[in-house]
Amino acid sequence: MNTGSILILPGDGIGPEVMAEVRRIIDWYGDKRGLSFEVSEDLVGGAAYDVHGKPLADETMEKAQGVDAVLLGAVGGPKYDDLDFSVKPERGLLRLRKEMDLFANLRPAQCFDALADFSSLKREVVAGLDIMIVRELTSGVYFGEPRGIFEENGERVGINTQRYTESEIARVARSAFELARKRGNKVCSMEKANVMESGILWREVVQKVHDAEYPDVELSHMYADAGGMQLTRWPKQFDVIVTDNLFGDLLSDVAAMLTGSLGMLPSASLGAPMENGRPKALYEPVHGSAPDITGQGKANPIACILSFAMALRYSFDQGGEADRLEAAVEKVLADGLRTADLLGEDGVQPVSTSEMGTAILAALDASL
Ligand code: NAD
Repeated sequence: MNTGSILILPGDGIGPEVMAEVRRIIDWYGDKRGLSFEVSEDLVGGAAYDVHGKPLADETMEKAQGVDAVLLGAVGGPKYDDLDFSVKPERGLLRLRKEMDLFANLRPAQCFDALADFSSLKREVVAGLDIMIVRELTSGVYFGEPRGIFEENGERVGINTQRYTESEIARVARSAFELARKRGNKVCSMEKANVMESGILWREVVQKVHDAEYPDVELSHMYADAGGMQLTRWPKQFDVIVTDNLFGDLLSDVAAMLTGSLGMLPSASLGAPMENGRPKALYEPVHGSAPDITGQGKANPIACILSFAMALRYSFDQGGEADRLEAAVEKVLADGLRTADLLGEDGVQPVSTSEMGTAILAALDASL
């Protein structure tokens, strides 16, 4: 049975290294679990620029629009730093997000027990943490007009505009409520309704969508600054947090870092449902191309592997198999395996990228 289609875009730097481990895991699911994915691979970022003179070829964009899930490694690197802004590697990623209209950015903050001491917070505050931040990604102050630097009364003034329509708020609220139903059934919406009109509208629309369509989900509202404090004080009070583009940018970074290394953090960006009912979707680790460790076998593949676990859950409706993969990651960490980014001071020898991949495959085998 064809489980669905995946476009793999490894990108630059450590992108291809971590993605190689994901490919082995995709193959494992084909061999051992009967999930047969139709997998294709293409170029993005600097790798695409080297071949096509732009960071995302039109044919690649077209392919991305036609698959169930895009898996991306990372883009960028010093080799491309001096390129014109319009062809920088990051533009390839931005084009994907924009043209696929990926308005809901999902950033989980999950603390694996074995790494609880890695957090800057106390073990009891973070152990067992499992929250999801849903950030609106295609509107708000990063896109609103007017914007720019203007002359006014003999001095310059910098302007950005926070702007949200009701439909933009409603669709990201729906994403959050849908997710909550598959998790702890709780949503906390964060804005600044005390000082911003866009925040007042945000709160009203989220409440309206809740009352009309998701009355079974527990909804609360919090000012985003208080939300930041609560996230570091007692993060386990939250299940799903939904917030706008700017606050989500900040709060998701804060929440993610509660759990330790950049090499552990997955993400998903979802758009509207396609004809087959699956959302447009892009899955990628939060980290970049890590030029300082590229080609040395030091990259932690777990962020990319957990991004594939999110694809199993949100694009392919394989929640049980996503749990299996997350449990395999948890098992190798509990067994003490660490890539170099996860090392403490206790003299543990690091494993390489592919050794970590092999150990996760062995844990998957053991789960059968
Ligand atoms: P980075 O995330 O690439 O690296 C930051 C630090 O974390 C580095 O020390 C790196 O070695 C380490 N690190 C990152 N991922 C790791 C992993 N999987 N395993 C072990 N260690 C890991 O951020 P940066 O150094 O600011 O940026 C490097 C390049 O990546 C730049 O060109 C930047 O524009 C680009 N970038 C791309 C993305 C993306 O593709 N989504 C995101 C951020 C940065």
